[in-house]
Formats: sequence, structure tokens, C-alpha cells
Amino acid sequence: MRLACSRCLKEYETRLASAFELTYTRDVSSSIEAVDHKEVELKAEEMGLIFFNGEQIDLMEGIQEQIVLAFPIQPLCQRHCKGLCSKCGADLNKGDCGCDRTPLNSKFSALRNLKLDDI
Ligand SMILES: [Zn+2]
Ligand SMILES: [Zn+2]
Repeated sequence: MRLACSRCLKEYETRLASAFELTYTRDVSSSIEAVDHKEVELKAEEMGLIFFNGEQIDLMEGIQEQIVLAFPIQPLCQRHCKGLCSKCGADLNKGDCGCDRTPLNSKFSALRNLKLDDI
């Protein structure tokens, strides 16, 4: 699949591998005391079961969900991607742009020299 790096925004290709198990059932009403059909469906979901009706199982929804779960939350083109320069936007993986990126007037810069007593 193609993903965009969350640090440098570069698109990269990666393999997505995920092993999962899905349990489909339509016989939950006997084990779950539920008032209506909707409630049966919700409880089945809580138990990790996927409820289905009729003679056919639609695998799409369950598989889609697993693929979404397998997506990296913070995709990175490489483990130590340096990202983009916050000043000029240069790709820092290609070398340093020479910008001074230490925050000059940061609200928290005063805290840098703060020393807290050990508790
Ligand atoms: Zn990157
Ligand atoms: Zn720069």
C-alpha cells in the first residue's frame, strides 16, 4: 500500500500484514437475553462476534475493519525520518538546510533552565 509519511509527507510503499480471526454467528439470541434484534447485534459485537442473517456472510465489513486497525497510526517512511524543517520546509532527510530551529521566543523557553527539587 502507499502511505504518506507523517513527518516528511513523502509517499512511500509498505507492506501491510495482519493476522486476524473473525467469528461469525447468527445463533446469539439463544445465549443472549436481548429485547430486540438491534440489541442482539450489539451484544454479539461486544463478544467479538459478527452477527449475520440469512444464508450468506458478507466478509467485506469485518475485513475492512481489520485493515483499518492494522494501519499505522503514525506512518513513517523510515524509522528515523527527520521530517521537514519547521522554518523552510526542506526535507531534512536530504541534509540540513542550515536554518536555526531552536525556538527563540517560545513561551516555554524560560522553563528550560528550571530545575525542580527532587521530591
Ligand atoms: Zn518521512
Ligand atoms: Zn530550513
